[in-house]
Formats: sequence, C-alpha cells, structure tokens
Amino acid sequence: MAKRLAVVDVERCVDCLLCAQACARRFGEGGLARSAIAVRSAGGVERGFVVVVCRACDDPPCLHACPVGAIEKGPVGVRVVLDRCIGCKACVAACTIGAVRWDEGGGKPVICVHCGLCARFCPYGVLALEEVEGG
Ligand code: SF4
Ligand code: SF4
Repeated sequence: MAKRLAVVDVERCVDCLLCAQACARRFGEGGLARSAIAVRSAGGVERGFVVVVCRACDDPPCLHACPVGAIEKGPVGVRVVLDRCIGCKACVAACTIGAVRWDEGGGKPVICVHCGLCARFCPYGVLALEEVEGG
C-alpha cells in the first residue's frame, strides 16, 4: 500500500534539522541546499516550530501550474522531470503551503517524494509514514 509522509507530532520538534540533513544526504551531500523538508519557527521559540513538507495533494496545484508539464503525479505526491523544467518557479508560487523548495545551484524545484528517510532519522517521533487510503 502507498505511504505518505505525515507530520504526526509537531509539538515534539526541537528544530534539530536532522530530518532535513537526512533528506539532503540522499544526494550524498551535506548542508540543506537540496533538502525537500524544512523547519521554521512558528513565531518565537515558545510557540514551537512548523515542519514544511509536501502533503501529496490529490489534485496538485504545483502540477497544474507548470507550463511545460515538468511535474507529474507519482505513486504518492508528485515527481519533477528535471530535463523538462525551465526554472520558471511557477510551482513554487502555486503550492499553498510553501512546500516546493528551490535548488539555487541547479535552478530547479525540489519536492518531497514521500520516501520516509527523514522520518527514520527524526529522534523525536515528529514524522512518520502513514498509509494512504485507497493507495
Ligand atoms: S508540493 Fe505543494 S502543491 Fe505540490 S503536491 Fe505537494 S503540497 Fe501539493
Ligand atoms: S520551475 Fe520547472 S517544474 Fe516548476 S513550474 Fe516552472 S517549469 Fe514547471
């Protein structure tokens, strides 16, 4: 059955960024430049943090916004066809939760593929893969 990444307990997030670093490691890279997951402050440390990552929309605005068909439906979420992408950033603008990250070096979008690697590295149980209904 298909699985989708879920933020199951954001209250436990301490902004350690191990999730984002694990994600970037899938390219064998350090740093966070090509991580598909981000953590930002919710407005002061006492308010905690927000984990920003693709929610695998059923009808993805990012896909519809792309003028060259460079975003396709994946088993869960979407896949970016980098060869087709012209770097226009329409997908960045279209995602209502800001989950399309941008690879400044490559000039291409980075979108979570729901592999769950980040969840395996989060020591606090903030992230998990959950089964998708009908998937
Ligand atoms: S990147 Fe944004 S718009 Fe595209 S599928 Fe994920 S949440 Fe939806
Ligand atoms: S940046 Fe690339 S993937 Fe995003 S909308 Fe433009 S052409 Fe499509």
